[in-house]
Amino acid sequence: MDAKVDIRLKPREEDRILAGHPWIYDNEIARADGPAASGAEARVFAARGRFLGSGTLSPGSKIRVRLHSRSDEDWDGAFTRRLLETALAFRRRVRDLSSESARIVFGEADGLPGLVADRFVGTPLGPDGEPAGEPGSWIVLQVLAAGAEARKAGIVEALRGALGPDGILERSEAPVRRLEGLSPSVGVLAGSVPDRIDIRENGLSFVVDLAGGQKTGWFLDQRENRAAAAAYAPGRTVLDAFCNAGGFGLCAARAGAASVLSVDSSEAAVAQVRENARRNGLENKVEVRAANAFDLLRDLEKEGRRFGLVVLDPPAFAKNRAALEGAARGYKEINLRALRLLEPGGVLATCSCSWWFDRERFRAMLEDAAADSGRRLRYLEDRGQAPDHPVVSGYPESWYLKCVIAEIVNR
Ligand code: SAH
Repeated sequence: MDAKVDIRLKPREEDRILAGHPWIYDNEIARADGPAASGAEARVFAARGRFLGSGTLSPGSKIRVRLHSRSDEDWDGAFTRRLLETALAFRRRVRDLSSESARIVFGEADGLPGLVADRFVGTPLGPDGEPAGEPGSWIVLQVLAAGAEARKAGIVEALRGALGPDGILERSEAPVRRLEGLSPSVGVLAGSVPDRIDIRENGLSFVVDLAGGQKTGWFLDQRENRAAAAAYAPGRTVLDAFCNAGGFGLCAARAGAASVLSVDSSEAAVAQVRENARRNGLENKVEVRAANAFDLLRDLEKEGRRFGLVVLDPPAFAKNRAALEGAARGYKEINLRALRLLEPGGVLATCSCSWWFDRERFRAMLEDAAADSGRRLRYLEDRGQAPDHPVVSGYPESWYLKCVIAEIVNR
């Protein structure tokens, strides 16, 4: 990858970049001199010639260049190794990597654009749920941009050198790859990777479906929020809506919830909740249903059911600006219904992982839902994502997860 492209921005387009944002959009570019190969090195200059940084080119994407450095340096193997060491040094401060699973690379927030790496520590499991191999560590990669794609071999080498995993699995299935002109790419890149492993989190044992689970197999970003919500669970009846493999509900059950109803539209996910409940001896407390949460929330209301704690953790309803209005309606509908299901003094733990639906919009939506429901809320906790998904200045997209915990003060 030696051919480089020099990118000159239009006048006054550099301020956001100087403040730390790593993306150059196509409509900000005045001129591009050089080859337009997918993933090529790009040097970016302001209109008057000031050097802004080094990046990689995504020729077909609106996000035309992703900066990896503010100096004139290529993203080569040595660069990957250095940035990975920096990312790992930070993870070692927030996680015990010998026993805890963690996101070790969080894309642009770690200076490695378009690259996500989750490292799972656990034990391989057979189809029967029994251990089927030695404990170890496995890395699941998502390669989401052209620059990272062109450097995949070096990335795999760097991960092997730094962490010595038993295997590396690529699961680059996210639709955003299409915007980069890349097709889905799934497969083992190093060593061998069991389909299913058992990990520990918040004192519980969870099956992680590395091969078939959603995204990288487990939502590591909710770890602290699961524990935070569970603190309100003792003695309460809990509804865990959009539960996936059951993280929130099982944490609540372990913390002493009277009962838990876990709901997800995915049959595979609810099967995993059942298995995870059994693994932790919580099957008597946890009821599992495969259903559309929108319908189920309505039905539960009709049946007059009440809960002491409701968790809402839907998928991102807004993946771009155009989807914001529809997303606002969706978030409001489920939050309004959840509020109506809560008993007096009940607690709502409500999440949104959509960056586009930002904190201000999320709070405004909650205010709206509270007003419409006739409930008055006391806001208890305003939370974000787990610390192994770092938030960095200049790149607001890194602060994507919202988890608000609030209780009902009236009635
Ligand atoms: N709370 C989970 C993560 C949830 S991810 C955890 O702690 O790990 C969002 C989940 O919502 C996915 O599992 C997806 O299958 C589910 N989902 C998407 N649309 C849904 C719908 N309409 N009704 C119920 N579940 C839905």
